[in-house]
Amino acid sequence: MATIPFACAECNAILPEPEDKNEAIQCTDCPTSPVSRDWQGLVIIFNPEMSEVGKRMGVTRPGSYALKVNVR
Ligand SMILES: [Zn+2]
Repeated sequence: MATIPFACAECNAILPEPEDKNEAIQCTDCPTSPVSRDWQGLVIIFNPEMSEVGKRMGVTRPGSYALKVNVR
């Protein structure tokens, strides 16, 4: 079973699992932001300037993003 990746609560980016499992997972863009495995709606943005969803989410770089990230 695949584990659910973490998502950044600040920019909603889906964060890849680190190769070292003991390493803390953090967003490279927002190191102080909380991360959560509790998120909904995966969107993959290829071209942020051309994407309505990307614009609405304030995405500036291509990548995978969560529509909604829940932080306790
Ligand atoms: Zn982030």
